[in-house]
Amino acid sequence: MIKQIKVGFAKSDKKSWISACSSVTLIKESKKIILVDCGGRGFFDEIKKSLKKEGVSPKDVTHIVSTHSHLDHVWNGAFFENADFINSGGVLKKKFYWKRLPLKIGRNVEVISTQGHSSDSCSVVFREKGKVYCVAGDLFYSDAKKMPSFERNVEEIMKNREKILKMADFIVPGHGKIFEVNDEESKVNL
Ligand SMILES: [Zn+2]
Repeated sequence: MIKQIKVGFAKSDKKSWISACSSVTLIKESKKIILVDCGGRGFFDEIKKSLKKEGVSPKDVTHIVSTHSHLDHVWNGAFFENADFINSGGVLKKKFYWKRLPLKIGRNVEVISTQGHSSDSCSVVFREKGKVYCVAGDLFYSDAKKMPSFERNVEEIMKNREKILKMADFIVPGHGKIFEVNDEESKVNL
């Protein structure tokens, strides 16, 4: 199963960021309990409550995938003491293992490189019941069109967005609600 347990957001006053937290997505596949991004500072209690509703406690989480290293996406990593930590550079179990992407972490769960928002950006592709889900971090900011307002390589973003839009049925953006790729309204405004 896959569920977006926190809808990410970002508020700014144009000069500085006031508050931001990434989307947090839970994927369960057999014994693997995977979180894609683990949210920003001050949001751990809320994430813990949402996990509890799914029957998961922080110590049950087996893997955390960080879509990139911005703090609004990785801050709470240390609260998940039993989880392997994965980003585009590799896997941290008890030791660090350098791994090249794409990296399979479950039968139907794969981490792929999707640079553009940052040079370390990656996404998680999950396949279930004939549908393809992509948890895309800030490659998709809040819908299919909005660009992140900083740190971006537009050319790379467009190239990787095109690849994901072709492959995925559903996309979880870094700072917005999950949307269906064929749903034109969702693409424009969520
Ligand atoms: Zn972000």
